[in-house]
Amino acid sequence: MKIHIMCDMEGVSGIVTWGRVGTGKPMYDEGRRLYTEEINAAVRGALRAGAEEIVVIDGHNAGGDNRYNSLLPELLHPACEWVAHHPWTRYTELLETGADACLMVGYHARAHTPDGVLSHTITSVKWHNLWFNGELVGEIAVNAALCGHYGCPVLLMTGDVAVCREAKALLGEELTTVAVKKGLSRYSARQIPPLRARDMIEEGAYQALQDLDAVAPYRPASPVTITAQITKSEMVEDFRGRPGLELDYDTLKVHSRADDWKTAWDQIWHWEV
Ligand SMILES: [Zn+2]
Repeated sequence: MKIHIMCDMEGVSGIVTWGRVGTGKPMYDEGRRLYTEEINAAVRGALRAGAEEIVVIDGHNAGGDNRYNSLLPELLHPACEWVAHHPWTRYTELLETGADACLMVGYHARAHTPDGVLSHTITSVKWHNLWFNGELVGEIAVNAALCGHYGCPVLLMTGDVAVCREAKALLGEELTTVAVKKGLSRYSARQIPPLRARDMIEEGAYQALQDLDAVAPYRPASPVTITAQITKSEMVEDFRGRPGLELDYDTLKVHSRADDWKTAWDQIWHWEV
C-alpha cells in the first residue's frame, strides 16, 4: 500500500497564531516540532494499517528559506520519505505511480471562516477566494482535486473543527476526520493537548485505511471552471494574456476553463507564494 501524506501547519494542535508558522518568528521552532510529531502520528497509523511506501509532502510555506520546509528531519519517523522545498501542488510522482490513499494532516479552513483557526485560501495577499465550477472552496479542495485527478482518494483530514466540517461537506460523510482544536476565532482555540492529539491522529489514520473505497476520489465535473477573486486591481496583470484565462475587470475575477481540473489549475496557478 502506497500512502501520500499531504501536510500543512496551521491545523496542528498548539498552533493558533502566525508566530508559530513563519520562518524567523520566535516561536517557529516550537511550531516545527509540533508539526513534525503530528505527521509522525499519521505515519505510525499508516504503518499499522499496512503501508509499505509513505511519502510525506510538506505543503506549508513558512517563507524565506523555509518554503515548503518546516518538518524537522531528525525528528521524522524513519519509515517515511519526505518532500521539501517543492512548489505547492507540484509533487505528483507517487500519485502517478498509483498511490492508494492520501491523508491530509494539519489543515485549515478556507478564507473567511469565522471559527477557522488561521483560515485563509492559499494567499490572502493576491487572491482571497476560489471557486471550482461555482462552488466556493479552500485549499483542501485543491489538494483533493490533485489527488482525484490521479484517481487517489483523500481518506483522512485533521485540523480544527472548521476544516473537518468543510472537508466532510466537500468529500462526504464517510471521510475520517480528527479535530485537534476548536476555533473560538481566527486566532484563538480550545485545544486538545499534542500528546493526546497525536494518539487520535494515529488512530484516525489507521481506521481511515481500513476501507480504501470509503471515499470516492474528488473530481470536479468536466468541463471545469476555476475562478479566483483577485484582491487588488494591479494584480490582474499577473494573468493578462495567458492561455485559457478570462479576466473580468468589473469583478476582479479570473476564470480558467479546461476539460479537466489539472489543466485548468495549471493554467491559473503560476505563483510561487
Ligand atoms: Zn500552511
